[in-house]
Amino acid sequence: MVAPIALDERAARLDEILPQYQCGRCDYVDCAHYAQALAQACAPPTSCAPGDIEVARALAQAMNVSLPENITFEPETLQCVVIDEADCVGCTRCLRACPLDALIGAAKKIHAVLPSLCSGCGLCLSVCPLDCMKLMSVGRQWTKQDADAARDRYRARLHRLMKQATRRIIKHDSERDEREKRRQAVFDALLKARARRLQWAQRKEDKKIP
Ligand code: SF4
Ligand code: SF4
Ligand code: SF4
Repeated sequence: MVAPIALDERAARLDEILPQYQCGRCDYVDCAHYAQALAQACAPPTSCAPGDIEVARALAQAMNVSLPENITFEPETLQCVVIDEADCVGCTRCLRACPLDALIGAAKKIHAVLPSLCSGCGLCLSVCPLDCMKLMSVGRQWTKQDADAARDRYRARLHRLMKQATRRIIKHDSERDEREKRRQAVFDALLKARARRLQWAQRKEDKKIP
């Protein structure tokens, strides 16, 4: 599970430039980790494919570095996932894979996408066991407002997942403590019973002595 990171001022400024797909195509787990690597001069400004040349230029300028000459990016258009409801079995895998909470659904229920939240990152497609998702162009641009909203949703998601994980650990620990208490109670009862048996045996022995 990805843990949320606190960015310093420089990294946060670079993160502001990124499109916030949280797709990992830069080889970092999310935009914030890429921004942190950029701030520490450990990554080039050209690794964000969805950001295209515009983001690479803005990053290079903010980092005060030059872009490599003749750098090119494959042109990409914004896409959105469409689910073939006839085939969806509600396995929830896509729901758990989506970094932007752009899918809704519940176990064994048909899932649906919220088109205005979907970046078309494709992370959900790779986990669908029935291949019932596809990407379609939406004919609009991913704006700065989309990116800011995506960052907020992603951070909220990470905090929610952290809380759920903490609750699971606490529940697991308290169940283990409960099991340990029961084991100890059984052990104490056995010890007492043994001590009583020994006492009776001793008394019997004592009575035999004239
Ligand atoms: S949007 Fe760009 S910076 Fe963010 S995770 Fe994807 S490739 Fe990396
Ligand atoms: S619904 Fe799929 S393609 Fe859209 S943002 Fe979520 S994971 Fe990415
Ligand atoms: S992963 Fe595929 S089958 Fe599973 S809920 Fe999502 S769309 Fe439906």
